[in-house]
Amino acid sequence: MGDPLDERDIAGAALGLVADAAGPYLGGLAERPVHDRAMDVLLDELDGPLPERGEGSVAAVERLVRVGTGAATHSSGPRFFHFVVGGSTPAAMAGDWTASLLDQAAGLWLTSPLAARAETVVLRWLKELFGLPASFGGVLTPSATLAHVTGLACARHWWAERHGVDVASRGLAGLPVMPVFSSGLVHVSTRKALQILGCGRDTLRVFARDDAGRVDLAAMDAALAEAGGAAVIVANLGEVNTGDSDPIAELADLAERHGAWLHVDGAFGLFSTLSPRSAHLARGVERADSVTADGHKWLNVPYESGFSFVRDPGVLSRAFGAWGAAYLPDEDGERVNYNMLGPESSRRARALPIWATLRAYGRDGYRAMVERHLDVAAHLGKLVEEAPDLELLAPVQLCVVCFRYRPPGVPEDRLDELNARLGEALLEDGRVYAGTSTYRGMTVFRPAPLNWRTTTADVERLVEVLRELAADLAP
Ligand SMILES: *Cc1c(COP(=O)(O)O)cnc(C)c1O
Repeated sequence: MGDPLDERDIAGAALGLVADAAGPYLGGLAERPVHDRAMDVLLDELDGPLPERGEGSVAAVERLVRVGTGAATHSSGPRFFHFVVGGSTPAAMAGDWTASLLDQAAGLWLTSPLAARAETVVLRWLKELFGLPASFGGVLTPSATLAHVTGLACARHWWAERHGVDVASRGLAGLPVMPVFSSGLVHVSTRKALQILGCGRDTLRVFARDDAGRVDLAAMDAALAEAGGAAVIVANLGEVNTGDSDPIAELADLAERHGAWLHVDGAFGLFSTLSPRSAHLARGVERADSVTADGHKWLNVPYESGFSFVRDPGVLSRAFGAWGAAYLPDEDGERVNYNMLGPESSRRARALPIWATLRAYGRDGYRAMVERHLDVAAHLGKLVEEAPDLELLAPVQLCVVCFRYRPPGVPEDRLDELNARLGEALLEDGRVYAGTSTYRGMTVFRPAPLNWRTTTADVERLVEVLRELAADLAP
């Protein structure tokens, strides 16, 4: 087998192999451990020398599906609680397959009116879903990190304009350091975006009034006055250890008073707007200048899916559109060239899975899912509080539960090591997946249930398995 041209008629058969595997694989996720012990042996089957002579699509895809369904981290099952990882709804996954099937060059209206129109539609739907003004501009990105790059590039453009410089054209040379202020809830990806943008990750100043990182508004106020207002505030809506959030409305007041740019990291926390029970956490987000969120977390769309919303749509095209490349068509309201509004050039039609899932479940379906997760997290919080050997470390506000194992009689200075060992045992076991993190200097568990399949039974299982493994550990 050699030239793909010889396989003109094979694509349907190759895709059929994937489709045939999908039902059993997805059907088994609920019962399967997160990883299989035989994984390493299977992974070896991916390896080997570059084939000189290809084995053909059917053989290659058969092998990939067999190794993949065995050796993948089954993180789209209902008991993967580590980090902040969503699953993929049936409609989103099928939408993603459709995006691959159609293989659109989604950067330009000219190359795919379908992808451009779908992106315009889903951005509008998402703004409605989150209660953001319809007048905001936006663009789909591969991740929240790239949405930060997008939003903070706009902030940087705005800030440089205030210094009389077109940063898209001239760069940062000769400009002072851009002041960026946040609380202790700031996520590492914000620093990474600043690093990518040439602003420097360590230039971000944290104003915290306690070891949980809660914002010191008075100190930030004073620093903003000193900076003369030309500064960027990063507000955090949903922190990864506890689900805690900054007071967005108060930071919006500060930004307004000083004329600063307000950027909100709502990677998963923006979904708090979907339920009247949690919407207060996001109050003020509609006053932001730029907002980041993820599709591959709480929207339960496959990787890679993020979104950036920006109050002034014109800044997006000034920050990203100044290519001056003659072959690029002009855009008008309808014919949007999304590669002019974000960091990518060629890009896939990542609007399609978002379109499919929003069309399939609607606002009501997503509200129901978010509220189920709020209930699941609250239930886990209650189980922890009632357990004599577990200690809840922060109030449960969203979909993250921060706690540690604390059996009676174990001295404080042994707890970090004990929890670290328990965390390793839990990951090794694989029935329920939740590793440890560091919060206020303590080694903690902080499971985040936000997979559409997850129910209260799954977090009850977490507590059972933790107890079972802890019993085998010498304290
Ligand atoms: C996950 C996360 C990010 C980064 O998102 P990616 O999609 O992994 O780039 C940023 N901020 C918060 C609060 C997050 O939870």
